Amino acid sequence: RYDGPSAAEILRKRSEFLSPSMFYFYKKPLNIVDGKMQYLFDEDGRRYLDAFGGIATICCGHCHPEVIEAIINQMKRLQHSTVLYLNHAIADFAEALASKLPGDLKVVFFTNSGTEANELALMIARLYTGCHDIISLRNAYHGNAAGTMGATAQCNWKFNVIQSGVHHALNPDQYRGIFGSDGEKYAKDVQEIIDFGTSGRVAGFISEAIQGVGGILELAPGYLPSVYNSIKKAGGLCIADEVQAGFARTGSHFWGFEAHGVVPDIVTMAKGIGNGIPIGAVVTTPEIAQVLTRRSYFNTFGGNPVCTAGGHAVLKVLEKEKLQENALVVGSYLKDGLMALKEKHEIIGDVRGRGLMLGVELVTDRQQKTPAKTEILHVMETMKDMGVLVGKGGFYGNVFRITPPLCFSKEDSDFFVDAMDIALSKL
Ligand code: PMP
Repeated sequence: RYDGPSAAEILRKRSEFLSPSMFYFYKKPLNIVDGKMQYLFDEDGRRYLDAFGGIATICCGHCHPEVIEAIINQMKRLQHSTVLYLNHAIADFAEALASKLPGDLKVVFFTNSGTEANELALMIARLYTGCHDIISLRNAYHGNAAGTMGATAQCNWKFNVIQSGVHHALNPDQYRGIFGSDGEKYAKDVQEIIDFGTSGRVAGFISEAIQGVGGILELAPGYLPSVYNSIKKAGGLCIADEVQAGFARTGSHFWGFEAHGVVPDIVTMAKGIGNGIPIGAVVTTPEIAQVLTRRSYFNTFGGNPVCTAGGHAVLKVLEKEKLQENALVVGSYLKDGLMALKEKHEIIGDVRGRGLMLGVELVTDRQQKTPAKTEILHVMETMKDMGVLVGKGGFYGNVFRITPPLCFSKEDSDFFVDAMDIALSKL
């Protein structure tokens, strides 16, 4: 039972004491008070299937008992800064994390968030290469601090402050992009940016393997190998932002970039890494990592004992409960269900994604691909009333983002598809 303040009371305080920039989903925002695995509960004890918890960092399930236990045990024993003294929790998690990455990627810098991780990655690339120019993709989201806001490339998320040295390449968007699924054609744009927009040398390239905020867009096949080639030739480093696609979510692989057959120089991560505990990380090679010894680099809480104890528990749960495999099996099943909905509902323009990172794009006209911006709000609202929470995104705000905790089941998928079917039929 919950006997705390009501939704109305919280909303009143929020509008008076919290930033006016904070937004919420649904006409009447939900007061979510409890979470258990793939379910959330509101103040009246009403249960919701959470098909969007992945975005809010939940990877093994809300309040997973083993993750909680690890966090509490460490909290009881010691919480401190990451840097000054030795602590086994930090070193153990770094070792475990490094073992999940290919090649020489084995030096970990912990941060508190995805933005911080990408800021650090961009700085490392600039220091290592002595160049300033970064190339990122249009429609990308990489964070909202000075450097990362430059790499983020959607006007909705960009404030009018200085963001220097970032070039935005053509997005290899298989649904709306001019070259369809021909990754190599889009990749030429990166080479042209290097040739015509820089000195011929660059600091690096940053991208997600599947754009999350951008609307679950998987980069066209062949794109990354070709771009990584161009970047390497220009002396730059390739950064993979795995904040959303990493940590077993895509099912077929542990990291999103692996499906593209590339090995980055730097990998950044956050969200799922801590199952709700704020932690991020940058992983790179020993050689590249050396650049940070040129000055003092300090982050009070990035990767502190409590957060790393939680992160290590997450890795163990992923393995023990075979959640990557589950993401693959259940994700494919769910995608099939969504594809079947596309046959039935004209408004579905595209179904895409991998594992438990899926997108459904709504359009009012399949030929014109006109974004169904208001319709999606109605469907979301109806699904919520039926007890299903789903996210949305994309530049036009017309793409459902389905990123549930990785313990999502086939039964949950059936329920999800049925709810979406009914909600679409009601439009
Ligand atoms: N990269 C990607 C791909 C993201 O989706 C996000 C957050 N939406 C970030 C970076 C920034 O992470 P954070 O909000 O933890 O700073």
